[in-house]
Amino acid sequence: MSRLIPGAGLDRTDIETPFSVHSLSSEAVAGHGADRQVLRILPEVNVIKIGGQSIMDRGAAAVLPLVAELRACAQQHPLLLGVGGGTRARHAYAIALDLGMPTSVLAKIGAHVPVQNARMLQLLLAQDGGILIDHEAVGHLPLYYRMGCVPILPGMPPFSFWEPPARVGRIPTHRTDAGVWLTAEGLGARRCIFVKDEDGLYTANPKDDPRATFIPRIHAAELLARKLPDCVVEPVVLEYMLRARLVREIQIINGLKPGTLTRALAGEPVGTIIHAD
Ligand code: ADP
Ligand code: MG
Repeated sequence: MSRLIPGAGLDRTDIETPFSVHSLSSEAVAGHGADRQVLRILPEVNVIKIGGQSIMDRGAAAVLPLVAELRACAQQHPLLLGVGGGTRARHAYAIALDLGMPTSVLAKIGAHVPVQNARMLQLLLAQDGGILIDHEAVGHLPLYYRMGCVPILPGMPPFSFWEPPARVGRIPTHRTDAGVWLTAEGLGARRCIFVKDEDGLYTANPKDDPRATFIPRIHAAELLARKLPDCVVEPVVLEYMLRARLVREIQIINGLKPGTLTRALAGEPVGTIIHAD
């Protein structure tokens, strides 16, 4: 669709493209291609986040039963596991904040703990095809699935030093929930499931408000409008879901209750479904 125009009255060879006149930020260009269907790269893959604080930090009591369930689920469904950082990442953030570090540095520091957790999960699943991957390896996923692997990705997105400034304070806005959802959206995955330690979303954090009530299903826009003081998933995920092209639904489930992940993968509405339809 691009055509070289030698000379073209200019002192350079021009290339004819729909974008040659306007800048890429112009309104005339922004909607280009919106009428085309977006390619789902791996539409069968189920992207699952294993919580850092909510699951990994609980050690064997929580992790081993979940690993057993993941092992069985991986026989039925292609899985891509993303792993959070948890308390050790929070500790590193606290020290970095105290030392005056900028968001860019916090995001770099915050990327390391999820690698530790991903590595431990990979070792627990090694005999079932668990392999540790990084962001560059996303292009190898088709090969890994053909070989029956269970790829495991540290959840932090690779914004790293280029993490955008936070709206408030300096804690990176894009942490492992965001990284995992962005992975699912990028791949056009079948489902994006967050495995945490509560049954799903409540009207408040059930750990500090016993009157909090369970919300089985909610629109992302409504959840944002409620401005809850705390949320079970990083709020930036909700904002991005509203502009998602492919993954417009996430499911939050309780990984401490055996069988819940299996049911979620079977398409049952266990836990909370947050959608953007
Ligand atoms: P992860 O382990 O994936 O990083 P987080 O610890 O960041 O997960 O988030 C899960 C926690 O969010 C739950 O353990 C719960 O205590 C807390 N939480 C805060 N607000 C809510 C809410 N409105 N509904 C449910 N859980 C909430
Ligand atoms: Mg978290």
